[in-house]
Amino acid sequence: VFQLSVPLNFLGSVYRELRQSLLDMETLFNLQKVNVAVKDKKDAKPLLLTAGEIRFENVTFGYRPDRPILKNLTLTIPAGKKIAIVGPSGCGKSTILRLLFRFYDVQEGRILVDGQDIRDVGLESLQKAIGVVPQDTPLFNDTIEHNIRYGNQEASHEQVVEAAKRARVHDTISQFPDGYGTMVGERGMMISGGEKQRLAISRVILKDPPLLFFDEATSALDTYTEQALLSHINSILKEKSRTSVFIAHRLRTIYDCDLIIVLREGQVAESGTHQELIDRAGLYSELWSAQETQFADKDEESALSGES
Ligand code: ATP
Repeated sequence: VFQLSVPLNFLGSVYRELRQSLLDMETLFNLQKVNVAVKDKKDAKPLLLTAGEIRFENVTFGYRPDRPILKNLTLTIPAGKKIAIVGPSGCGKSTILRLLFRFYDVQEGRILVDGQDIRDVGLESLQKAIGVVPQDTPLFNDTIEHNIRYGNQEASHEQVVEAAKRARVHDTISQFPDGYGTMVGERGMMISGGEKQRLAISRVILKDPPLLFFDEATSALDTYTEQALLSHINSILKEKSRTSVFIAHRLRTIYDCDLIIVLREGQVAESGTHQELIDRAGLYSELWSAQETQFADKDEESALSGES
């Protein structure tokens, strides 16, 4: 239960958080509903993960048959590398992730993980192999501990704490009235967007999946926290060579990726390293310049307001 020992202007943000949590739960339920539509084949075998390569081959998909979102898309996410998928809003970035998770099946083409068509493998083994830090982290009406343990039901309390420490959220949790036993979710204590994302990162650390996706993982954080968290995520990634994919709007957060895949209207427009794409002077370089200009404007604004 939310305690009223807070400044009143906090209530506005509580209301927004509350609405957001309800939306998150809706999202979660929707995903589960969608999930039911996709079923295991009778002879489905568990996914056999070797290197961790993901390949989309001539994939066509639309949420409605008359409106394809991905159009004959072919792309390879090489094993053990750090990859970014970028592109204008609505080009199908998150759709790629939903298809890989098999929330939907493709209409044409196929998706392979280490050479296996994901329609031929057991759904549970597939979803177990993929970890996601989503745009909005759904929180259950339960304790923080349970919310983190969702990443791995068998984890001990010590492992939960260790994951929270590595996601840099342990100190915050320790300050909550009931620590790890604090109730969160729409009927519990309200926590900030950044804290929610750290809980999501704790979950993923606990799950320790070979394929890792960050769907705008750092969007709720301020720039300083974001940089700290990104370099932290990077150091976690470097400990093991696993395939990690950043689905990003803000190019500043992904420019050091091994490979950047640029989508436009459901197809690969171009791909390469940051420098290669800048030299190409194509869509990426256009998006980069536009964002850098925006940043420069903002920096100037904050410098001005700092003076007054
Ligand atoms: P953004 O960068 O804005 O998050 P995105 O590139 O990740 O966008 P997607 O979320 O993959 O884009 O969506 C691609 C298109 O599919 C959009 O036009 C979107 O409106 C549409 N879309 C997404 N989800 C659904 C859905 N469940 N039903 C119908 N259309 C959808």
